[in-house]
Amino acid sequence: MTDGGWMMALDRDYDVVVAGAGMAGVVAAIAAARSGARTLLTDRLAFLGGNMTAGLLGNFLSFHNMKGEQITDGIPQEIVDACIELGGAFREHRGHLPNAYGNAYSVTPIDPEVLKLVTQKLCLEAGVELLLNTYIAGTVTEGRRVTALRIVNKSGESVVRAKVFVDATGDADLVASAGGRFQLGNDEGRVMSISLFSRLGNVDLDKHLAYVKANPDEFMLGEDPYIGKTKRQIADGLKHWMDYPLVTGHYTAVKQAQAKGEFHKNRQRVVFQVTTIPGVVVLNATSLLGYDPTDGQSLTRAALEGREQIFSVWRFFRDYVPGFDKSFVLDSAALLGVRESRRIVGTRTLTTDMCVAGQKNDDDIARGSYCLDVHQPSGVIEHMHIRDGESYGIPYGTLIPEEVDGVIVAGRSLASERFANGSARCQAPIMGMGQAAGVAAALCAEHGFQPREVPVGQLRGILRQQGAVV
Ligand SMILES: Cc1cc2nc3c(=O)[nH]c(=O)nc-3n(C[C@H](O)[C@H](O)[C@H](O)COP(=O)(O)OP(=O)(O)OC[C@H]3O[C@@H](n4cnc5c(N)ncnc54)[C@H](O)[C@@H]3O)c2cc1C
Repeated sequence: MTDGGWMMALDRDYDVVVAGAGMAGVVAAIAAARSGARTLLTDRLAFLGGNMTAGLLGNFLSFHNMKGEQITDGIPQEIVDACIELGGAFREHRGHLPNAYGNAYSVTPIDPEVLKLVTQKLCLEAGVELLLNTYIAGTVTEGRRVTALRIVNKSGESVVRAKVFVDATGDADLVASAGGRFQLGNDEGRVMSISLFSRLGNVDLDKHLAYVKANPDEFMLGEDPYIGKTKRQIADGLKHWMDYPLVTGHYTAVKQAQAKGEFHKNRQRVVFQVTTIPGVVVLNATSLLGYDPTDGQSLTRAALEGREQIFSVWRFFRDYVPGFDKSFVLDSAALLGVRESRRIVGTRTLTTDMCVAGQKNDDDIARGSYCLDVHQPSGVIEHMHIRDGESYGIPYGTLIPEEVDGVIVAGRSLASERFANGSARCQAPIMGMGQAAGVAAALCAEHGFQPREVPVGQLRGILRQQGAVV
């Protein structure tokens, strides 16, 4: 055993330890505990939700295919329903607002503070034990099997053992530590741009909507060709700012501000999202290029540049965008928004062709439908669309590292080609993966399987009984 001297063990051994409490990890932990596994969920932050809470992401994409069929359900929908009850999601359309932008049929705005509470409640009700403020520093292995995690927190250094682990760190930290192969970024190892999100208050969304209706060419509207409508037709149909919850564009204003040196040069358009709080929007307009999400020093430099950009981006909105003249910076994210990190080499790979074709497979455990959205390291944003408004399947093997046992991956590190990852990294599919990983981990703990030995037919049957769409 390679324990590196980390011998003090937590006083309990677990069936399942879920590493990372982003939404993939949260859903995995709930699913494992509800399946009867003694489950621990651990994270370096003091609350659950990952990018959705600490990253101020603001919405779940995409619960529906472009035809309007709901392709993510089960625990993820339960989370939305619980947020609605506490005022943290819109009651309209069961939380899923129609999306005039047109890269997804629906957008599901979620309040981060409500989500912190909802995820914590659902975990505790399911019997999940939580260990927060805890950094996972690596794995303990026996041969190719991970048997424990090395963790650090205020109590010092210790190990936590389990029969099986879910790697929901978003960076495949467990797989990398255990020596599993992975890919990072493009052929040169460069990743998509990182963004640091912020929220603005005192925004007049009615005034902004009037501007959209008068200037549709300045915006992304009805992007997916399946929609078959012109920008003008879509803009004419907008009755309320809730009809366009994920606003994308302001091309001319961005160009003008860049020419005057008043806006960074890393992107050609800006994005903001409506929230459930009146007058408050989430800004997605910073763009941090050339950083490495697996390098601590690089992440520090990215965070510093991101915080600088937030204020220049806010000044841009204040000075150039109708409805924002009296706005102010409410807060900025605690966590950098890392779009792309390690992608494991799995027993199966989700390919770009599979996504674009809307392929269905016998071993699918979740579905995805968002456009293939790649923010290139150059700053250029490229999109591909799924054929005929369909959804694609995510096979179980994309969660199983090829060379490491005892670990199931859930979330954006799934085995996938880059463009495929640009779709499957969205919140709805990563929560679908989480539910599958949690049930599979519980099956492993109960029957003594390795993750790669889980009978996928049985897994799919259980997921369907739980209301998930496979
Ligand atoms: C800028 C940006 C914009 C996006 N826009 C959207 C959008 O509009 N809609 C949408 O649906 N998706 C969007 N996405 C994609 C989506 O947010 C991410 O892919 C998603 O958060 C991945 O979820 P996850 O659970 O895999 O990882 P994360 O949300 O990153 O969660 C990982 C968790 O693991 C913890 N962790 C990591 N390493 C360790 C460690 N070593 N020790 C302890 N804890 C650890 C982290 O603290 C975190 O809580 C966007 C992503 C980015 C970055």
